Amino acid sequence: MRVCRFDDDRVGLVDGDQVVDVTETVRAHMPAFAWPLPRGDQFIARLDALRPAMEAAARSGPRRPVGEVRLLSPVANPGKIVAAPVNYTKHFDEVVDDAALHHGNAIKTIHDAGVFLKATSSLIGAGEPVEIAWPERRTDHEIELAIIIGRQGYAIARDKARDHIAGFAIGLDMTVRGPEERSYRKSLDTFSLLGPWLVTPDEIADPNALELHLKVNGETRQRASTRSLILNCEALIEYASRAYTLYPGDVIMTGTPEGVSPIAAGDRIEASIEQIGDMVVAVGARGGDVSAARAAPALGAQGPAA
Ligand code: MN
Repeated sequence: MRVCRFDDDRVGLVDGDQVVDVTETVRAHMPAFAWPLPRGDQFIARLDALRPAMEAAARSGPRRPVGEVRLLSPVANPGKIVAAPVNYTKHFDEVVDDAALHHGNAIKTIHDAGVFLKATSSLIGAGEPVEIAWPERRTDHEIELAIIIGRQGYAIARDKARDHIAGFAIGLDMTVRGPEERSYRKSLDTFSLLGPWLVTPDEIADPNALELHLKVNGETRQRASTRSLILNCEALIEYASRAYTLYPGDVIMTGTPEGVSPIAAGDRIEASIEQIGDMVVAVGARGGDVSAARAAPALGAQGPAA
């Protein structure tokens, strides 16, 4: 099953090049919520339970071409976005070799670095543009296989990890290069993208053997396989859940392979992962009032001015 969220928070099942709208069925089955809201994304938490009703509704629901809807993140309310810092050996090598990538940061592979968190406010879908907010700083694309957690768990053993997966998507972990904490320079608005939809695990033969491909303006920049992951999907779930409970709707970005490179407003990113799909993402500029408060922190600044 391929599940998308589109337009004004509608829910669709993707069937070939069409989206079947099953929003009314989903809404009819969702409970009313009151504050405080339960942890986790409550639609993702119910995905398995809702599946028969959604599939039944999809047999007769209204259809539209995928290309005509605006795709949002398939997860509306993730509790956290977990991301693997250096989880491909060739990406480790390219970062260590290039000062524009490492910026004097101590670069370690995932075994020594742990995982980090991205702000959930950074999350968008394939139909929304990535916005460059600090054009004077280098901003890179990172394509990553994204795991969406479906069932709560703490200290999940690797051989039980698949029971906790709701689905997979293409993840973009957009990154300003520089010396600051990853959670700061990778959490700008629009810097986490999940798309084009969620694909349930029954449609993925082996998540640890998927080809990833990213092009910028038609030119290949990243092409690799999740076979090269240092910690594969199950090992990452084990590793992350040793620290904290994973809840439905939590997203794990599994790390990027080699080939990261800068992007600028006006660029066009094409990203695909086999068995998941492909998407075209526009790169724009952060609009609104570009005031001093929004200016990029300068590199090499001597700390805050008083
Ligand atoms: Mn990354």
